[in-house]
Amino acid sequence: MAKKKKKKKLKWGRVFIALIIVIVLIFGIYKSASFLIDQAIDLINDLLAGEKISTKKYRATIIIDPGHGGYDVGANTKNIYEKDITLKIAQYLQKALEKKNIKVVLTRDKDIELNSDKSTDLHMRAAMSQQNQADYFVSIHVNDLANNTSVSGFEIYTRNNDSYFLAESILTKMDELKISKNRGIVDGSNLQVLRDNTVPSVLVELGYIKSSDFQYLTNDSQLNNIAGAIANGLEERIKEDKEAKNEGENQGE
Ligand SMILES: [Zn+2]
Repeated sequence: MAKKKKKKKLKWGRVFIALIIVIVLIFGIYKSASFLIDQAIDLINDLLAGEKISTKKYRATIIIDPGHGGYDVGANTKNIYEKDITLKIAQYLQKALEKKNIKVVLTRDKDIELNSDKSTDLHMRAAMSQQNQADYFVSIHVNDLANNTSVSGFEIYTRNNDSYFLAESILTKMDELKISKNRGIVDGSNLQVLRDNTVPSVLVELGYIKSSDFQYLTNDSQLNNIAGAIANGLEERIKEDKEAKNEGENQGE
């Protein structure tokens, strides 16, 4: 009987100790969890602050539109497709612009169409200007003149005065490369991707795929050079537009 009683007493002692351990553990877990949560909140706040700062430092936002994509291969010859050339140069251009602290949004970064309906597809590309509060829009294409192999050169399409200045800046820099004939600035007011746009926008035709232009259109380092020229043209436009804006503000004072 006495033995039994002793056993019972010992059991209660164990329960008590277990209870203390559980309380200490819960308290410990609670403390470390709240510490971790505080740390996580601080980290998120830091990241958000950093994001704000890095958005501020961009000099401009540009939509780069690699023409065509997916089912729509664009101009082509000898199994070389416009959609691949435009994507490649758009990616070179993105790198070149980001080095200059210019934010780039691509309308596509892989081999896809945005919509199976061509008109909807083009409208979606143009709409990205407004969605991203962009300053400029640059569509990239490669030309094709049926089976005419003798017509070569690059040209830029625009539809209004603001866009004309942008076209001029880019064309000047492309001309300095002396890669092909400079075919100048062409009226692009009937092009939907320009017509549906809300910001200064241009469509760059890099060259004619079935002409001698084929050589540089299929050469990565040449495409990189052209991307560099387009980036320099854009940078010059950004600078001049900023200067004009500052002058306007000063005159208003
Ligand atoms: Zn095209």
